[in-house]
Amino acid sequence: MPESPPAPVDVLVVGAGITGIYQLYRAREAGFSVQLLEAGDGAGGTWYWNRYPGARFDSESYTYAYLFSEELFDEWEWHEHFADQPEIERYLNHVVDRFDLRRHIRFGAKVAAAVYDEPSGAWTVTLPDGRELYARYLVAATGVLSVPYFPDVPGRDDFRGESYHTGLWPAAPVDFAGKRVAVIGTGSSGVQVIPASAGDVASLTVYQRTANWCTPLNNAPITPEEQAQLRADFDAMRETLNTSVHGFLHRACDRATFDDTPEERRAYYEKMWNSPGFSKLTSNYTDLLQDPAANEQWCDFIAAKIRGIVHDPQTAEKLIPKGHRFGEHRPPFVAGYFETFNRPNVTLVDLTQTPMVRVTATGIETTAGAHDFDIIVWATGFDFGTGALTRMGICGRGGLALTDHWADGPTTYLGVQTAGFPNFFFPGGPHAAAGNNPRYNGDQVDFVTDLLVYARDHGFDVVEVDPAAEEEWTSMVDRWAVRPPAFGQSSYYFGANIPGKPRRYLLNSAGRPKLFAEIADQVASDYKAFKLSRRA
Ligand code: NAP
Repeated sequence: MPESPPAPVDVLVVGAGITGIYQLYRAREAGFSVQLLEAGDGAGGTWYWNRYPGARFDSESYTYAYLFSEELFDEWEWHEHFADQPEIERYLNHVVDRFDLRRHIRFGAKVAAAVYDEPSGAWTVTLPDGRELYARYLVAATGVLSVPYFPDVPGRDDFRGESYHTGLWPAAPVDFAGKRVAVIGTGSSGVQVIPASAGDVASLTVYQRTANWCTPLNNAPITPEEQAQLRADFDAMRETLNTSVHGFLHRACDRATFDDTPEERRAYYEKMWNSPGFSKLTSNYTDLLQDPAANEQWCDFIAAKIRGIVHDPQTAEKLIPKGHRFGEHRPPFVAGYFETFNRPNVTLVDLTQTPMVRVTATGIETTAGAHDFDIIVWATGFDFGTGALTRMGICGRGGLALTDHWADGPTTYLGVQTAGFPNFFFPGGPHAAAGNNPRYNGDQVDFVTDLLVYARDHGFDVVEVDPAAEEEWTSMVDRWAVRPPAFGQSSYYFGANIPGKPRRYLLNSAGRPKLFAEIADQVASDYKAFKLSRRA
């Protein structure tokens, strides 16, 4: 007997990362029938795929974690201020089981196509084997950093050794012991995997094209006293996190760079250098990102630190960024990164001086010659912002393909919906705010869920953003992208790392305050930016 088609669900979520899990939970708690499709074989999203050695948070564990349940917060004991990948993956699986979400998740289910059907006002989602699922609302929680990017280096597929991308790391541990290893890329992933693997290897060769402004993560175990304090302060901490611009607990500085004397400034920079994670951005002098002269002071301080740590002066100079300011690219936070280059088995290749020519069957060739390797690690980043959404075969009203709609870059309202694609949402997608991602993404999930509840309560089942609202929001994103500090456009925030990608700003620089104001306005105005209707 032919299998009968599955019953449509109210809300179909794609992606079991931190945003998708929360969306699944919120939609189910709101009384919708739900299902979640996840391409991987386990929960965790970013923290499932990026299991390379050294992978860990650079937002404080308890600020990245879910805050919707105090019981959950109380029963989970983070071991470190910045947890490592295995602990994060355990946590996300714990959440899935703690809230009985696993039975709604289908693993190993990558979306091949998702097509809006106008007569029924529902989405048909197709899996690679041709099976179809039906949903009233489709929510892609597919993340901004989920499609790994492999540069088109000649011969990349010729290599006969082992090769891995940090964003597609295998579940079975990779044995580095005694191997000749190459790492290509020195962004946040590269600078984590490099020190974590240098100890075991016969040799480690780092291929760097652009040096980054790396500063110490300053991780530490969470003491029992700190743990008790975190629990005691839960309400206050949640309030701070839920209202903070960047979603962090760090206190803002009350001074601009040149308010302090050079001595005071040095002392403050030293304090910043020794402060945890992102506080180098969020607690630094107020003009750090606005005034190029202020930014230069901080960069000079970091450069002096690098020269102080790295013994070989030529290597130190190569590790000091040129041509971009602090904060222009996403700053990585490190543990023992610069020190790694003092090891006798570690070599830095500066690709700006000796560009890569090709990958060969046995290694990598640059203009300075060829080297053989057993393992190549591609720490070469992701198709940021739109990568996943434009690879899901999404077609909206009248067969409009999302790839065509966004041919010149994404247009959104609040970073959650785009006109012409009714009943389709993408919290945590393009036009998200820079900062502690789960806080902003969680705001978006709450907004989407509340909107769907509102629609249901008022007898509507088709929800589509007004093109004018989308245009206004997207213009705001574009305007803010070129406000001071008017950094260059060389970062992946502009899609610059992917050849041929339109240079459009992919974040919302106006940040959470703008999102909060807009959400409040929508709630107060019965969601005036949306056209709510009933199926014909
Ligand atoms: P990334 O920041 O985009 O870095 C990619 C690196 O690969 C860059 O150094 C880039 O050099 C290099 N690269 C690209 N193409 C190359 C080529 N053809 N030849 C040589 N080098 C090439 O990617 P990522 O390090 O994976 O980090 C992406 C984001 O993920 C981070 O910014 C962060 O938001 C997130 N992340 C977070 C953590 C965490 O601590 N929580 C850890 C890892 C990642 P160019 O700069 O010259 O292009």
